[in-house]
Amino acid sequence: MSKSTINTHEPLLEVKNLVQQFPLNKGFLRTLHFRNGRLVHERKFVHAVNGVTFEIMKGEVFSIVGESGCGKSTTARTIIRLLKPTSGEVHFDGTDISKLNAVQLRPFRRRMQMVFQNPYASLNPRHTIKTILTEPMLFHGVAKNKKEAEEQALALMEKVGLRKEQIERFPHQFSGGQRQRISIARTLAVNPEFIIADEPVSALDVSIQAQILNLMMDLREELNLSYLFIAHDLAVVKHISDRVGVMYLGRIVEVGSKKDVFENPLHPYTFALLASVPVLGGRNLKSSELAGDVPTTPTELPKGCLFAARCPKAQAICQNIIPEFKKYATGHYCACHLIS
Ligand code: SF4
Repeated sequence: MSKSTINTHEPLLEVKNLVQQFPLNKGFLRTLHFRNGRLVHERKFVHAVNGVTFEIMKGEVFSIVGESGCGKSTTARTIIRLLKPTSGEVHFDGTDISKLNAVQLRPFRRRMQMVFQNPYASLNPRHTIKTILTEPMLFHGVAKNKKEAEEQALALMEKVGLRKEQIERFPHQFSGGQRQRISIARTLAVNPEFIIADEPVSALDVSIQAQILNLMMDLREELNLSYLFIAHDLAVVKHISDRVGVMYLGRIVEVGSKKDVFENPLHPYTFALLASVPVLGGRNLKSSELAGDVPTTPTELPKGCLFAARCPKAQAICQNIIPEFKKYATGHYCACHLIS
């Protein structure tokens, strides 16, 4: 059996009703307003993540897909605790890490790593690749001493397809694709089990994208990694995912296997996303069926379905009642009043 199919039914990550809000008007004076002749204290929030629930099995690649501004990256940063959640829970291998302090989080920081979109911005330009790779090993105690860390760093260079002698160079001496290989090597330096990849190939040339994706998938097989993949490119998501979650305005509206979501989508938003993908082979490119954009600063959430303002199938009920996230077939979930 290919190791790419070794995902188990044991959850590694369970995200439960995760909420992330950012205060819009900071400072006490800015929160004071006159209403009907009275001074009232009112804080406004950007509702970036609005009750996200999903799980990722050991060895699985789960992707979250959606338009820019839908809350995918904020969800990823909240899960890995670069941001503290407003509410909700994030269980990693059975432990709720959402409320842990910095010291309690340290072992989990080693086990959960993140690859960012821009490999140049995420690598310290003043450090050689050797320092970039060995520092986290020494910090997390993965290597006993400098010599052992350097040996492991050289092995990592080879593992991600770079030459050992390049280890003394600085990030600016590498191409974009090579820098992303260095970022991947840095995440692997601490022997993680779970990697969040936030648009890891969207800043790269198309010709390089496949190489990096293939590298990530090879590493998954070799090291039995689990991935949360954040992407807006459906072709990338289709290529690498076991299961897919479709996100709109900070909420997951559909979850299913790659086959379910791409071949038997249920939610009108998923339909619209798939329809917006260019189709080759003699047919004209389809334009997006979506009218308007995702609100960039959603301070007031609609009362009912979050997609109602753009949904071509919206009914009266959609304006007032939030659709339940229901199971329709094994592992296929959707939140829409029209699906029965
Ligand atoms: Fe569209 Fe209504 Fe379904 Fe929301 S609940 S996706 S508005 S049909």
